[in-house]
Amino acid sequence: MRAEQQQPVSFGGNQQAERPIGRSIKRGLLGRCPHCGDGLLFWAFLKPVDQCAVCGEDLHHQRADDLPAYIVIVIVGHVLMTGYLLTDMVFPASSWIHLAIWAPLAVLAALVTIQPVKGGVIGLQWACRMHGFGGHDEDAVDPGRGGPAE
Ligand SMILES: [Zn+2]
Repeated sequence: MRAEQQQPVSFGGNQQAERPIGRSIKRGLLGRCPHCGDGLLFWAFLKPVDQCAVCGEDLHHQRADDLPAYIVIVIVGHVLMTGYLLTDMVFPASSWIHLAIWAPLAVLAALVTIQPVKGGVIGLQWACRMHGFGGHDEDAVDPGRGGPAE
């Protein structure tokens, strides 16, 4: 019973190689390859590399889509709303002053957090062998793209 609880979660693909989810997410959050932890995960802002320069792990399969944006909205929204409410309780100010403070902070916080969050999502996808990370046939039909991958 206890041994079953410690089994790593994986979906499809090669079940032999272990891919710890926590470690993979952490490496992605730090902008590192989820496989080796040494290679850079991004070559530019929000642009992940196709292949790790250190270990050669294929990372071009990743399709984080909108999940990083949703996670950033949840994180930044909770943090800034808490800050807004606490500030308003201590220093009541007009709506324009709050807007001038919190709107730029929201944009800045979103820009600062989106890439680490995207890296974490890629790490999660890699650990779960999602979107081609599991060694699936490259020519298999991808319903998201409407046909065989080229
Ligand atoms: Zn690597």
